[in-house]
Amino acid sequence: DTIGANLARTAAMWPEREALVDVPAGLRWTYAEFAADVERLACALLASGVAKGDRVGVWAVNRAEWVLVQYATAQVGAIMVNVNPAYRTHEVEYVLRQAGVSLLFASTEHKGSDYRAMVDEVRPKLPELRRTVYFGEPGWEEFTALGADVSAQRLRAREAELSCDDPINIQYTSGTTGFPKGATLSHHNILNNGFFVGELVAYTEQDRICVPVPFYHCFGMVMGNLAATSHGACIVIPAPSFEPGASLEAVQRERCTSLYGVPTMFIAELNLPEFAEYDLSTLRTGIMAGSPCPVEVMKRVVAEMHMAEVSICYGMTETSPVSLQTRVEDDLEHRTGTVGRVLPHLEVKVVDPATGVTLPRGEAGELCTRGYSVMLGYWEEPEKSAEAIDTGRWMHTGDLAVMREDGYVEIVGRIKDMIIRGGENIYPREIEEFLYAHPKIRDVQVVGVPHERYGEEVLACVIPLDPADPLTLDELRAFCRDRLAHYKIPSRLQLLDAFPMTVSGKIRKVELRRSHGS
Ligand code: ATP
Ligand code: MG
Repeated sequence: DTIGANLARTAAMWPEREALVDVPAGLRWTYAEFAADVERLACALLASGVAKGDRVGVWAVNRAEWVLVQYATAQVGAIMVNVNPAYRTHEVEYVLRQAGVSLLFASTEHKGSDYRAMVDEVRPKLPELRRTVYFGEPGWEEFTALGADVSAQRLRAREAELSCDDPINIQYTSGTTGFPKGATLSHHNILNNGFFVGELVAYTEQDRICVPVPFYHCFGMVMGNLAATSHGACIVIPAPSFEPGASLEAVQRERCTSLYGVPTMFIAELNLPEFAEYDLSTLRTGIMAGSPCPVEVMKRVVAEMHMAEVSICYGMTETSPVSLQTRVEDDLEHRTGTVGRVLPHLEVKVVDPATGVTLPRGEAGELCTRGYSVMLGYWEEPEKSAEAIDTGRWMHTGDLAVMREDGYVEIVGRIKDMIIRGGENIYPREIEEFLYAHPKIRDVQVVGVPHERYGEEVLACVIPLDPADPLTLDELRAFCRDRLAHYKIPSRLQLLDAFPMTVSGKIRKVELRRSHGS
């Protein structure tokens, strides 16, 4: 199916069920209303001259209109370009130019960021950008009103020209390891992936999904929105950008059955002083993804947030994103020790990064993915695409993994993050897991930093639980002694208030290495 056809089917099956609730805006749409508004916007896109394959950008924090743009662009065969709301003029100019965006939807302002001023600054340098429409402004109403003159027949004619394999979306990667890359994805890529992710957490039209993760990233727009609309479930927007209290408030008020987040978001929610006051008893499941989840956090999520069926997903923007996922019936050990097993209709393998030969189960190597979810390529970067996707159509993830006998996969870390100290391979994740149990540590990241003699040495960056009583290097080393091999014991400690993060909630180890490496 195309995304438009899939939404039409859902709206026909459950017209009266809620599709979308935007809590801060006080907005609610049933599927019938939502599909009608998507169609109105799709007609407006046609009226404004958007051709099949034209790039339409969205540079905005979460709100209901974001979702309308997602479905309306798909319905007319335009390519939606998700622009990270944390970008500033330098980056936004790069992305809009690289993707050749001709129409842009944007927020006006958010938390002190003035998007309009930034657009005004870059617009003279972007001749292809014809029009910018701001959410929540009269310009938005004017734009959607354009659709009134377009007949439903004309929209149907456009839909008849679309194929499931058309590019529909350029999603930029998080930029955790460097400059973001634009993954070009089709209806088939992302709609199927959203559907299967939803299947594996057993979504039905009864589910209500709280989505505090950004829509600009695949976690929000595929695992959230597409998983919801392909099952008739409801999308609940708790806030324009992540606020732990707003998420829990929305779960309680909207009786959500599912809650999303990267591990750091769950940590922030669990650490709220008023955490115990929220009624989270309607929660059944949720998705935690994007980076490794500490065991202690998972235990609390299951026990204190009632998310007995919480699912762990592993994926990357380039694979729509999810390729591995835990199942609702999995035990705690599989849910903390692994990122699950392969999704239906996909293949994964673990290879020797040097030779490309598939390794026996139990050995660490580079994880590769193949199947319907692999992107069409990086937008206008054929060389980078050829580096990432080999001639056998395998996507090379850049992540180190071990496949267990039972097919469940453990992520060991990124190849780029592996520390090599005096010839010993050290996986930061293992040390982080270990240190997480220290009573004075709230959160910890381990990175390799240059060392004259050993090549690299181990640096622990720690956010102390109590800043008034911080951990010392001696305490840290005493805690590790006799429990970790000597070469893994951090030789340096850096205390921090916060970690440098991407907007999708990932910790930028590159930045930690750069700032504290010397
Ligand atoms: P960039 O490619 O720009 O450096 P990025 O790889 O962080 O950034 P994304 O596509 O958003 O961009 O993230 C994919 C990566 O996130 C994976 O390659 C993997 O390293 C990490 N990841 C995703 N899910 C998990 C998980 N469940 N556990 C551990 N790591 C994960
Ligand atoms: Mg990546």
